[in-house]
Amino acid sequence: MDAAEFRRRGKEMVDFVADYQENIEHRRVYPDVEPGYLRSMIPSEAPLEPESYEDVLRDVDRVIMPGVTHWLSPHFYAYYANSTSFPSILADLLSSGIGTIGFTWAANPACSELETVMLDWLGKMLQLPEDFLSETQGQGGGVIQGTASEATLMALLSARLKTVKCVQESDPQRSEADIISKLIAYTSEEAHSSVEKASIIGGVVIRMVPTDEHFSVRAETLEKMVAEDKATGYIPFFFCATLGTTPCCAFDKIDELGPICNAENIWMHIDAAYAGCAFICPEFRPLLNGVEFADSFSINPNKFLLVGFDCSAMWVKKSADLTRAFQMDPEYLKHEHQGSGLVKDYMHWGIPMARRFRSLKLWFVFRMYGLRGLQAFIRKHVELAKTFENLVRGDNNFEICAEVVMGLVCFRLKGSDELNKALLKQITRTGKIHLVPCTLRGRFVLRFVVCGRTTELRHIQEAWKHITELSSKLLQNLFDHEGKEN
Ligand code: PLP
Repeated sequence: MDAAEFRRRGKEMVDFVADYQENIEHRRVYPDVEPGYLRSMIPSEAPLEPESYEDVLRDVDRVIMPGVTHWLSPHFYAYYANSTSFPSILADLLSSGIGTIGFTWAANPACSELETVMLDWLGKMLQLPEDFLSETQGQGGGVIQGTASEATLMALLSARLKTVKCVQESDPQRSEADIISKLIAYTSEEAHSSVEKASIIGGVVIRMVPTDEHFSVRAETLEKMVAEDKATGYIPFFFCATLGTTPCCAFDKIDELGPICNAENIWMHIDAAYAGCAFICPEFRPLLNGVEFADSFSINPNKFLLVGFDCSAMWVKKSADLTRAFQMDPEYLKHEHQGSGLVKDYMHWGIPMARRFRSLKLWFVFRMYGLRGLQAFIRKHVELAKTFENLVRGDNNFEICAEVVMGLVCFRLKGSDELNKALLKQITRTGKIHLVPCTLRGRFVLRFVVCGRTTELRHIQEAWKHITELSSKLLQNLFDHEGKEN
């Protein structure tokens, strides 16, 4: 493909994507395919000779589209969103098109510098303390990680090294292996599984902290666990707080947990992957009070800020804690501006060396929506979730299972887990809308997350109508069955 053909095909591809998104609501949101469906539809080996672009594109329709879950559909209410937008897609196209890789400042100065400034822009939108910003020329700053899981892992590994060094300062004879075997991390029993995964990768013990009636971790619970563990020779070193848990969007009380972590030399990382984006709205910002006690904090603009996957923004108060843990300095990566206060070599801030130009997505989206546009987007989702909550509350067959704070509604049919599992099975089988479940206090619960950029009131009403039609049939069957048995 030469530039002339790319120009033509590129325009066609933009049309394809625009058509796809414009008509997405008419597609079945959840695909009707069986595992292994794809292998039989394409050859078992790569072609020896080149094929035509037309053939490839034809197979996108024939092979790929039938197996796609349409995350951007207004009927998609599962997980948390991939909240992309057209400016973000264009920025990604530009990033791929210029194909530049930004591991050090010298490898791509624009990539490094835009990332630094965008993380400051976003940090200011969130009203983060100045300690987390780069422009203050202090020790803090922001970085884009691929995912929230990576941000948590980076925080845990940095905290691990920091604690090992600290213990060895007072006890130089103690081996690193011995110290690591005594390290203990904490997170909420409601935290995302990525926190436990980080502890496995980091080779440290983790304890799940029980939550209160609002599914929040409280200070006295953590304090008690830390005291118990210290008494048995463990070294508490890391606490991952969650703002906006995955099952039900609950918020740990970081303003009371932070001082304990600070007093006990425990690194506090805040995982606010989804809900953190909403802190750009002043009405939600109080939930972030206490961030001043944190060592690191991360949100996923790709979940709720109209930026496409992947883009996880992470801020640290002392960037040296990260870079010291991961600094490698081979000759081929050295450059003349290394070490200058104005230069960031982001390869030292994360696991991979090579990095895409992801800050372009933030720049395009922030400029084309403005803070006001982004706030309006978040508020609309929250309002739609409240509408859904009211519909659920208005039906005596259903119950709400957790406070609705942002775009997630946890609900269930009053009755057994089996009944709710049967309802979800029907929803998934029908494929009109897509939801996933969670477990809250041992009960099977349905999660309804307003995800789509184009979701409107009518979609919410249609979704509820669909759910109640399916549930009426299930309840009727149950009633008939019980009637027969009696
Ligand atoms: N943390 C929370 C609170 C989440 O809700 C999620 C995913 O939904 C994650 C972490 C994992 O995010 P990622 O896929 O970016 O690692």
